Amino acid sequence: MGFFAPSDTLDKAPVVSSIPKCGRCGLFKTCKSPKMELVGKGRRKILIVGEAPGEKEDELGKPFSGRAGKQLENSLWDNGGIDLYEDCWAMNALACHPPENREPTPKELQACRPNLVKAIKRLKPEIIVPLGKFGIKAVISLVWKEAVGDGARWLGFQIPCQKWNAWICPTWHPAFILQKLNERGATALLFERHLQAISKLDGRPWNNLPDYESLVRVEVDVEAAADWLYRIRDEDVVSFDYETNMLKPDSPQARIYSCAVCVNGERAIAYPWHGNAVEATGVLLRSSSKKIGANIKFEERWTQRVFGHGVRNWAWDCNLAAHVIDHRSDITSVKFQAFVLLGQAIWNAKVEQFFSGPPNKPNRIGEIDMMSLLRYNGLDAVLEYHIARKQKEWFQK
Ligand code: URA
Repeated sequence: MGFFAPSDTLDKAPVVSSIPKCGRCGLFKTCKSPKMELVGKGRRKILIVGEAPGEKEDELGKPFSGRAGKQLENSLWDNGGIDLYEDCWAMNALACHPPENREPTPKELQACRPNLVKAIKRLKPEIIVPLGKFGIKAVISLVWKEAVGDGARWLGFQIPCQKWNAWICPTWHPAFILQKLNERGATALLFERHLQAISKLDGRPWNNLPDYESLVRVEVDVEAAADWLYRIRDEDVVSFDYETNMLKPDSPQARIYSCAVCVNGERAIAYPWHGNAVEATGVLLRSSSKKIGANIKFEERWTQRVFGHGVRNWAWDCNLAAHVIDHRSDITSVKFQAFVLLGQAIWNAKVEQFFSGPPNKPNRIGEIDMMSLLRYNGLDAVLEYHIARKQKEWFQK
């Protein structure tokens, strides 16, 4: 297996039953309707993933048959004509009712995980709607290999998930919306907007899955990299990215290790930072092409430090645009934006550990083998372009 793990595709997955083969958590012993089956005909291939069956659901043996379920049924219908039982499949992150309606524990969610995986593999939904913090945690943790964090940061995105070629559309739990209805605040309104947006999705995110990694040319020969950079300096749009041993360039120890440049989102080159490739980068950064950066405070500062001049014709800052579009915390990184806008799963797991450490001390970038660093750097530059493209579409809308 290469540095970038190939994603599992649903088509390769065996067809399996959705009946949970769990039991490890023991909840099935204390509830009336153990290992509750999902319901619904799924005509529009929408999979709703709630948190856990409540008392009413446990009585009747059917997900979403209580008050929250009724609220969900009405909201789906009123905001886009989605019929919960005809158009969707409905299930829960936890198949058994927890005693006294308490919250699911991490252990219980873990034990029920195979149930959710099997349902997704068998049904191949086009849209997955995780509800509430535990529905979100259960679904997102299957595709996001870092801490899911606060469920609130996922709300309202329509994530084009590459792993399942399906949209993941996290939103609030209808039980929470029931509490908010009388407040006349923004939450109930935003919930409606989320459902309206879901109802407008048409088919899967892609006919052909994108392969951003294949656009990157890794070039260790700095003369060849310089030639390439001189040839593309008048292209329309260039996104670029430095990999450095410190966040800020002011310390005498501060160094750039590699750079990557992507042209019009179509092809990219990543190269070590020395020789003629450095000079050619300087020429490119003074050319009239439009420049995209992940966080231009960073790229501008390093460019000033190395060349004594700034970048000409800045056109886009991905971090800043993310913040203008949505001011929630923890969402502006290229990693997060690449996932929620492009469905690109985490690609830097192998190198990321080397970048951590105190901000004013050199990190351990020098320990990363050059090929891995360049592949990572190149993909960063490609993703920046495509994040900017998506963000721009949002502003134009
Ligand atoms: N809440 C859920 O998350 N699921 C149900 O089935 C009912 C209420």
